[in-house]
Amino acid sequence: MRPNLLDPLFAPATVLDGIGPKLAKLLPNVVPHDTTGRDVRVGDLLFVLPHSIIDRRKTYLISEAPEATVVTLKISIDHHQPPPPGKGKQPYRVYGHDASNEIALTFFHARGDWLGKALPEGSEVIVSGRLERFNGRAAMVHPDHMVPVARADELPLLENVYPLTAGLSGKVLRRAILAGTDRVPDLPEWLDPEVSRGQNFPSLRMALHRLHHPTDPLDINPDSPAWRRLAYDELLAGQLALALVRKRIRKADGRPLVGNGSVERKIRAALPYSLTAAQEKAVEDIHADLALPERMLRLLQGDVGSGKTVVALMAMARAAEAGGQSALMAPTEILARQHFSSIKVLAESAGLKTAILTGREKGRDRTETLKAIAEGNVDIVIGTHAIFQDAVQFQNLVLAIIDEQHRFGVHQRLAISAKGEAVDMLVMTATPIPRTLVLTAFGDMDVSRLTEKPAGRKPIQTVTLPLERIGELVNRLQSAIQSGQKVYWICPLVEESEDIKLMSAEDRYAALQPIFGDKVGIIHGRMSGPDKDAAMLAFKNGDTRILIGTTVIEVGVDVPDATIIVIEHAERFGLAQLHQLRGRVGRGDRQSNCVLLYKEPLGLVARQRLSVMRETEDGFRISEEDLKLRGEGELLGTKQSGAPGFRVARIERHADLLQIARDDARLMLERDPELTSPRGEALKTLLYLYGRDDAVRLLRAG
Ligand code: ADP
Ligand code: MG
Repeated sequence: MRPNLLDPLFAPATVLDGIGPKLAKLLPNVVPHDTTGRDVRVGDLLFVLPHSIIDRRKTYLISEAPEATVVTLKISIDHHQPPPPGKGKQPYRVYGHDASNEIALTFFHARGDWLGKALPEGSEVIVSGRLERFNGRAAMVHPDHMVPVARADELPLLENVYPLTAGLSGKVLRRAILAGTDRVPDLPEWLDPEVSRGQNFPSLRMALHRLHHPTDPLDINPDSPAWRRLAYDELLAGQLALALVRKRIRKADGRPLVGNGSVERKIRAALPYSLTAAQEKAVEDIHADLALPERMLRLLQGDVGSGKTVVALMAMARAAEAGGQSALMAPTEILARQHFSSIKVLAESAGLKTAILTGREKGRDRTETLKAIAEGNVDIVIGTHAIFQDAVQFQNLVLAIIDEQHRFGVHQRLAISAKGEAVDMLVMTATPIPRTLVLTAFGDMDVSRLTEKPAGRKPIQTVTLPLERIGELVNRLQSAIQSGQKVYWICPLVEESEDIKLMSAEDRYAALQPIFGDKVGIIHGRMSGPDKDAAMLAFKNGDTRILIGTTVIEVGVDVPDATIIVIEHAERFGLAQLHQLRGRVGRGDRQSNCVLLYKEPLGLVARQRLSVMRETEDGFRISEEDLKLRGEGELLGTKQSGAPGFRVARIERHADLLQIARDDARLMLERDPELTSPRGEALKTLLYLYGRDDAVRLLRAG
């Protein structure tokens, strides 16, 4: 149970002044982590950290004040100029001056009587707001603050700026957050005193107070002790949760899986290629893990197209030789079917039995599949989340392989390992996560990397093209198709709520169909399963030559003879996603092309992303650029998957803390495995605070 001490932080945000039920609905837009399915809490708001600060400590002369920024001025009020009668839409102006120049304070829809009181003619006032100059004349529209000189101390000298969302004013949000800081209880300290001292960390309460009531602009810097304290807490909670999961998974002793290589040999004989050195090394790592009495917990990291599937197959071959069953889980139906169709042939040529299990298998077929799995008549089960369901019972599951892991959460990892005894675990990811992030995302796993692509691959030529020149592209595609090439055409997912006019996959299909006729196919998320299969199959067979789709085809799809990919509205995609998408081509030995269609005008970040894409195909470099261009939460795709992301930790800034947190978490669990010491109890509070209660449950389960 959550410690009562935390109650004030878990109260709904509506207890705060100024936050009614209506505004509360907008809060999820500013809270830096997922709050779906529950109210936004006071504690959530406290982790909304300022991104900048308004500094009013200095007063400027009008003539010297910088333009287009918030400045503070000390002026004398000269006269008021209300809008002419009947022209209420024109602004109300109040003129003033200082020793250097004149200024007009400008108000729209103003109440004259109120302005008369706030800015009496002849008085001296301090005004603060954004200064503009029109033809050299200074103006300030709706100053943020206006106080008589006599009451100058009422002017907030430093004021945080928080993320904004439509409908929620900065003022209201700031007030709510400040009110929230008064509710932070005194919590037992969970930090190791030595770490605290070494890092000069303030207490949690002090840290939150300092960040939301800064006394110096440096206070809100991510490198400030206050910010680093919060980041450390978050990283520590994450590391502790991962360490607990790991301990739980490793706890049940494994058993050695050894084989005589007979299945493996047959599969190798059936492969139309030989493995790359990197693949061989990965297979070797895995076979060595399997042969050990401990459980395997290995991450197979390999860029798109690096050939992870066949490595997985070799692992499953060994499991089968040892007399056990394997399960391979993919995040989407399409991907599961694709794995199934590529693995089935090879596995069956080696005498193994395979089965597929997704949400779509129903009725008799499903019952029979389940029976075969339960009786041990299936060696390899390939599927989606459906494999996690209770109805699925294995006779002897020894190996679980999870593809594209970042879309699955920690629970699912546990769920699958509960389906057998001491199940060995292989996780495959195409996300080229930098080493620092492997730790936060996956915890302590052994890592194998496929660092080279299969031989014979030619680099993919990437070009960018403004949408206006789409006609040229269509002409080129016509001749490409005539020469037998295949084209993916990706459109962004269009949400109905979006007001920007984007071409959806359906619109694009409608536009291209008159040109390309029945050579164009379409695939998207709202199609039924069999329709999706049919669309994929037609493209694979070459009945269609252009496949228009959404990011449904982002992950893993493999049509080796597709050589062109067009990504429409490329400016809307993140770098990691663009890279994943581009990886759909360049899989055979023919020259491949990627066309990034963009809509002008391009923002700065979008421009940088597109140029990174033009410059390199190196997934690791791309992920590093990506990390620079945006936060790490997005990089891991946590926004979509609801996997734990970060509220305050910035991996690019706080990587040093991650290492300390990791060691700290391990050491703590060695000394106090059930977290029953005073510090252990305090750490449980930390886990609750950061929403890692799952991990606490693991403790109790033992
Ligand atoms: P990913 O790592 O993206 O999952 P896949 O396993 O789908 O990559 O493999 C991509 C393509 O490369 C597939 O068509 C596969 O048959 C092929 N492939 C895999 N290994 C090799 C190899 N050693 N030599 C040639 N082609 C290979
Ligand atoms: Mg794959």
